[in-house]
Amino acid sequence: MKKKIIISIVAIFVIFIGFTVTKTLLAKSKQPTAKQQTHTLDENRIINNLSSAVKIKTISYENRDQIDYSEFDKFIRFLAETYPLVHENLSLERINEYSLIYRWEGTNPKARPIGLAAHYDVVPVLKGTENDWEEEAFSGTITEEFVWGRGTLDDKVGVIGILEAAEQLVKEGYQPPQDIYLLFGHDEEIGGDEGAAKITDYLNEQNIQLAYVMDEGGAIVTNMVPGIKAPVGVIGVAEKGMADVTLTTTGSGGHSSQPATITNVGRISKAIAKLEEQQFKAHFDGPTKELFEFVAPEMSFGYKYVFENTWLFQPVITKILLGKPATAAVMRSTIAPTIFHAGEKANVLPEKAQANINVRVMPQDTLESLQKDIEKIIDDEAIDVTVEGNEASPVSSTSNGAFQAIQQAARDTYPDAIIAPYIMIAGSDAKHYARAADDTYRFLPIMMEEDGLQKMHGTNERITKDAMIKAVAFYMTLLQETK
Ligand SMILES: [Zn+2]
Repeated sequence: MKKKIIISIVAIFVIFIGFTVTKTLLAKSKQPTAKQQTHTLDENRIINNLSSAVKIKTISYENRDQIDYSEFDKFIRFLAETYPLVHENLSLERINEYSLIYRWEGTNPKARPIGLAAHYDVVPVLKGTENDWEEEAFSGTITEEFVWGRGTLDDKVGVIGILEAAEQLVKEGYQPPQDIYLLFGHDEEIGGDEGAAKITDYLNEQNIQLAYVMDEGGAIVTNMVPGIKAPVGVIGVAEKGMADVTLTTTGSGGHSSQPATITNVGRISKAIAKLEEQQFKAHFDGPTKELFEFVAPEMSFGYKYVFENTWLFQPVITKILLGKPATAAVMRSTIAPTIFHAGEKANVLPEKAQANINVRVMPQDTLESLQKDIEKIIDDEAIDVTVEGNEASPVSSTSNGAFQAIQQAARDTYPDAIIAPYIMIAGSDAKHYARAADDTYRFLPIMMEEDGLQKMHGTNERITKDAMIKAVAFYMTLLQETK
């Protein structure tokens, strides 16, 4: 009898190992074979043009009164002078003065139009950090390996990359089958309400529904995904929403010599502590699951074994991902208490306490569902809860021609890179364009330095010359890949 049990246990174990290992070994790569690129590009011209673009100070300030629009005019004139073939062959519409729509007419009126988007405004250099820059922030300095300056990565690489690609293709006599719209917003860094949002309104008014829009987004980075030596490029198929939760409680303040056991400040504090303790529900489905489906087949055996058997290991994986802020943010809506208002005098209990919590919303959640969750977690009827902001964007497909074209163009440009979908935790203009496109993708086709993300809005923003040249090759390939 005992022997039988042991035999059964061993048999189950063998079947289990056999099943999970087979599943691991049969994992099929989701990466298309890279094709050889044949573009000959004038590399010096591209580098010099990016450098000139960086010198023009198209800075967005939160306070719009501070914005120097003469620089934006200058930038638009610079584009007209630098890309004569584009300006002869494409029509240009200025939206709200400073945002730009170029329309490149296709040969087949039945083909669905597409959009390539980027923005030409940049963030300011933080006061007091000007001298920390190795090269002056708006110098556009060209060195052996880099082009330096604010906007090189975010996002003049996109504007210049797309226009260089279009100029080159026109020169080669290329005619796209479908209409191509080049969409350049001028206020992405302060929300895009006057730029991308108005561009989208215009497209809606003209009844132009794009098959897809590709905007800035995830880049190609190394050492990001455990178990993968190759660089990984991530295409945002959705972006999180952003909302502000206000918790308010009012009531008798009284004198601080005889406080009640729970005060207004204590109430709000307790509510925040409960929210941080509990957190919103983690989601393993959607773009994050897809990310792992795309990268798992490329992992070393140990990692691959775990990620190809998520049916078994999902609880463990979830626990590990929730352990770090960066990976937790792609799993759940996040809670960030940012403002706390209460009290004015050291010896008077405040009549009112109020806190603001900045929440980044997963596509699986809604503002309404989060409000319900919050009320349930804090479980205190004396606290008034309001939620205001934007829902997450819709989630775009990874199985259509558009995603495949972007993935193929990325692989052709960076044959060693693994290209996968993901959810973007930062915002972009793409959330606006989603109102005029079936699908929106967020991808910056460049190989990023390891600390590139910090440099983007920080000090010493720069791009390697190689990445800039390859961005142009990427956009050319993408335009020719989209059927
Ligand atoms: Zn940007």
